[in-house]
Amino acid sequence: MEDRIFRTAMGKFATGVTVITTKIGGKVHGMTANAFVSVSLNPKLILVSIGEDASINPLIKEAGTFAVSILNEDQEDLSAYFAGQIKEERQIDFDTFNDAPVIKDALANITCTVQNSVIAGDHTLYIGEVTDLRVQDGEPLAFFEGKYKKIT
Ligand code: FAD
Ligand code: NAD
Repeated sequence: MEDRIFRTAMGKFATGVTVITTKIGGKVHGMTANAFVSVSLNPKLILVSIGEDASINPLIKEAGTFAVSILNEDQEDLSAYFAGQIKEERQIDFDTFNDAPVIKDALANITCTVQNSVIAGDHTLYIGEVTDLRVQDGEPLAFFEGKYKKIT
């Protein structure tokens, strides 16, 4: 099967957009991800799928912690930036929540410890046990057919 038809099919599943962040030795790294799932209520678990080649992958492994920020409809630029689609180097003013770097003004900031990780093909699935979270009102940034959408 061609990669393109797989991506086209997966792109029919409309998602929100998150930025995954982690901190190791005082250094913060962020990456855009839409492969995010709510997994379990008791205990509270979530899952993210991170490409094996992504530079954040070994950092999460080493840190054992990560955070998920669910982006609002005005944060498309941040999504493109943390997907490496904007080449300039920027000074990002992260917020600190539960001692973790998170994206300011996101609809939700969720901090996690890695409860389990599974290599699945060319990605690693990180199951995170939620240590804290906070939410705020607003409309989401959506991703559908490889394009950003607003749902309002
Ligand atoms: P890098 O290329 O190392 O970093 C991305 C960018 O962020 C770079 O420009 C870097 O300079 C900048 N940056 C990082 N940290 C900081 C910091 N502290 N201060 C300032 N700048 C910083 N990939 C997946 O594996 N899983 C997914 O679920 C997924 N979903 C995606 C959804 C969307 C909508 C898009 C557009 C992309 C998605 N990707 C996903 C692809 C992924 O975002 C890119 O491949 C990513 O660039 C690779 O990650 P990296 O850790 O190598 O990032
Ligand atoms: P696209 O058409 O590549 O993506 C559509 C859908 O295909 C995505 O929502 C995702 O479900 C799936 N997909 C795409 N690349 C994948 C990958 N490498 N592994 C697993 N699933 C994947 O959309 P686009 O705007 O061209 O994407 C921008 C860039 O971000 C591309 O390089 C794409 O590969 C990457 N991306 C990666 C993932 C991921 O790794 N899970 C998800 C979305 C986008």
